Amino acid sequence: MDNVTEKLLQYFGHRKFKSELQERAIRAITRGVHDVFVSMPTGSGKSLCFQLPAMLQDNKLAIVFSPLLALIKDQIDHLVKLKIPAESINSKMTTKDRERVLNDLKSIKPDTRFLYVTPEQAATGTFKSLMEHLVKYKKVSYVVVDEAHCVSEWGHDFRPDYLKLGDLREKYKSIPWVALTATASAEVVKDILSNLKLLQPVAQYKTPSFRRNLFYDVIYQNCIQDEIGHLYEFLQKSLNEDEGVKSKDKNAVIVYCRTREQTEDLSNMLTKRGLKSLAYHGGLKSSERISVQEAWSRGDCPCVCATVSFGMGVDKATVRAVAHWGIAQNVAAYYQESGRAGRDGKSAVCRIYYCRSERNTVDFLLKTEIAKAKTPEQKQRCKNAYKSFTIMVKYCEDVRCRHKTFSEFFGEEPPKCVSRCDVCVNERSVRRSLEQHMRRAMS
Ligand code: ADP
Ligand code: MG
Ligand code: ZN
Repeated sequence: MDNVTEKLLQYFGHRKFKSELQERAIRAITRGVHDVFVSMPTGSGKSLCFQLPAMLQDNKLAIVFSPLLALIKDQIDHLVKLKIPAESINSKMTTKDRERVLNDLKSIKPDTRFLYVTPEQAATGTFKSLMEHLVKYKKVSYVVVDEAHCVSEWGHDFRPDYLKLGDLREKYKSIPWVALTATASAEVVKDILSNLKLLQPVAQYKTPSFRRNLFYDVIYQNCIQDEIGHLYEFLQKSLNEDEGVKSKDKNAVIVYCRTREQTEDLSNMLTKRGLKSLAYHGGLKSSERISVQEAWSRGDCPCVCATVSFGMGVDKATVRAVAHWGIAQNVAAYYQESGRAGRDGKSAVCRIYYCRSERNTVDFLLKTEIAKAKTPEQKQRCKNAYKSFTIMVKYCEDVRCRHKTFSEFFGEEPPKCVSRCDVCVNERSVRRSLEQHMRRAMS
């Protein structure tokens, strides 16, 4: 056992790394030679990637930028439970509390090992002079930017204050920086590296996007006789293999829809045909939403027809199929939503029931947004959204490996799909359906 694995057990109680990638990232960050960028899915243990290296640096503390007080609180609670002193300075704390934290930080040997700060706080004079002090006395082990996609306008929760962190990177060149995120399209990664002004060469540790157990295909709604019947058969077949399994581990499916009405209509029609389904959307009372989610998680109701608000914080491993009714908003969203399938590593199917009039509706809505945008920034964001949508349309209307669209989007080499999408299995048949779809859509 070397020092790193020893401390992994001693401080964090883990005997092993969660993945090879986690270990490689941790060792690179521990060496401290380069700035490091880490992109791994939610739940894969990104926090440990900076927390363990920081604990290996005696008498120093890590400064961690995190976008939300709620996230900060979770992380601090977790560390304190492990008996690791972690603090925050933020606008919500009492003056007395703030004094206590600042006094410790300015003492000769601070107890604090992690200081969590929001980007808004980072812009204040208090923080800037504190940082100056900590760096001057060589008390900073690492500067960490968690949820680093917040620095990109391509990301889903852009935070202008994150942009100012780049100035800190420029000012304090001697401290290694670590940026982490779960969402890393090629565009977002580019923004993270350049907006945070990370020092090149940046060492990058990224989970490849290709998931071999997920089969992707597209069905053209106007090429099938009975759309609902087709969907019903597909979902039933996906659910089929779970005779005798404990309810919690029972197979489940999700159908994503664009509107509330669609979720209600589809779940009614599927239930009528004999597949117990519930609708889930933002129009339900929160108690109703919770009860739908629980019925589905418990295995009492195998199918949920939902708007995209369903899925955050859902971690059911046995989702056998994710269907999108119409189209998805963009490739990032589609990758994430469909990616809720097959978390157990077993085979699962991700399918779009493509419908051209749905495509036209979304197209129209996004163009309206661009026209309505008031500021140049807003306009740019709407244009970006529109551009992302057109890539999703191409996904549905081109005959090329579905996984290849994802690898391109994430800036990776194309994977060896072979048989994990409809195009690679039978390109001619997909081409024929697409042609038929186009002919019918145009007539
Ligand atoms: P992320 O930030 O990537 O979403 P977290 O850092 O919140 O993930 O970690 C997710 C969970 O994984 C936490 O409960 C954490 O304690 C656990 N975890 C992290 N590393 C390991 C490990 N090496 N062994 C076991 N559990 C781990
Ligand atoms: Mg995290
Ligand atoms: Zn393929």
